[in-house]
Amino acid sequence: MTATRPLLGCVADDFTGATDLANNLVRAGMRTIQTIGVPDGPLDVNVDAVVVALKSRTIAPAEAVAQSLAALHWLLDAGVQQVYFKYCSTFDSTAEGNIGPVIDALLDAMNEDFTIACPAFPENQRTVFKGHLFVGEQLLGDSPMRHHPLTPMTDANLVRVLQPQTRRKVGLVPYDVVARGSAAIVERCAALRADGVGIAVLDAISNDDLMKIGPALAGMRLVTAGSGIAIGLPQNWQATGELGTDVPTDALPLASGWRAVISGSCSSATNAQVTQFVAAGGPAFAIDPLALASDGDVVGDVLRWARPLLPKGPLLVYATAAPEAVATVQAKLGAQRAGALVEEALARIASGLVERGVRVLVVAGGETSGAVVQALGIRQLAIGPQIAPGVPWTSARSPVGGGATLHVALKSGNFGGPDFFMQAFDMLEGPR
Ligand code: ADP
Repeated sequence: MTATRPLLGCVADDFTGATDLANNLVRAGMRTIQTIGVPDGPLDVNVDAVVVALKSRTIAPAEAVAQSLAALHWLLDAGVQQVYFKYCSTFDSTAEGNIGPVIDALLDAMNEDFTIACPAFPENQRTVFKGHLFVGEQLLGDSPMRHHPLTPMTDANLVRVLQPQTRRKVGLVPYDVVARGSAAIVERCAALRADGVGIAVLDAISNDDLMKIGPALAGMRLVTAGSGIAIGLPQNWQATGELGTDVPTDALPLASGWRAVISGSCSSATNAQVTQFVAAGGPAFAIDPLALASDGDVVGDVLRWARPLLPKGPLLVYATAAPEAVATVQAKLGAQRAGALVEEALARIASGLVERGVRVLVVAGGETSGAVVQALGIRQLAIGPQIAPGVPWTSARSPVGGGATLHVALKSGNFGGPDFFMQAFDMLEGPR
């Protein structure tokens, strides 16, 4: 089958961030598919948007540029009208900074000289005012993001953060302009451009603002943003009739097969979710990272434990632990080695469970999700309905389990309420 041309092509700099963006596009009316890395060939599905998930946030800038350009060329070949470079809503970038170099390279490759930058995602408490990024009530530099191990963010002023990363001049479209609406935003962008600005940071503090910004971006070939700006874009194609207004966007095949949760996130939200599942009497196997470092067959033990339980309902396999327990393990094994051992074990367990008939899988943790999806050989995720902000159900084919269709929810650590796991399963209907 030859697929129709997608309207929007996205390059996302990390994995669960790609799912978050795809989720917003689906909710705003676009049929969306997420690919794991740059696909080998053309798409064989009809979608309105494609999100190519890279893992380029913290790698060397030259490598991030090369991967982003490969994604860009694939998207342009697929015929997209607009390209969206997606980064984190906390504008995570290393000291060297990948956001500026990637924007420069994408603009150059597209022969464009102007774009916007806006990480605002008001629904998730990320707002931009006078060029300053707020996380909830706090300026970015006062938020816990200042302690992030890989991308510490100590300055909330986005113009100041971005300027040293790019050879283009960075400017600002301030809130009073955004509040006046699309025409005022277009006019200010034109004025900034005439003034030699190549990247304009946009203020936005509410979904209303995002809906005003959207029309101002119609025809802008490159947009750079967090996932929030996506909410305002589909209306542009609905206005031209290229995108329907009543097409079901989040329909997934009916779920069937056994269900499991694999959790390798140690965030406080995931700790609460694991505690709740166990307290409700759900069958659960706790992985001890120290046991993984010794000679035993932990993966085999888990799969033998799971087999008779699977027909009875969802089960949980977790390495999730409180900060003190994680610190103890890391002191003995080293943080890197502990993380790698756990990820590898959880990925093998996920594969083993799918081989034994699990078809519905919730995975908690960004890195953990990457490891599991890789082990399952998944190349594309169709995006379904939202379970919690930032986390949709998806469906995917996996060569593990003979090409069966799986339902997969990839939850980045801090997303979801305490009952997320059961909430996710309850949303799916159909025989098990
Ligand atoms: P999050 O989305 O919460 O950051 P990730 O999966 O991205 O979750 O990261 C969690 C990391 O911690 C993974 O590398 C995982 O393997 C590791 N990990 C999980 N459990 C433990 C544990 N008990 N001790 C040490 N490291 C762990």
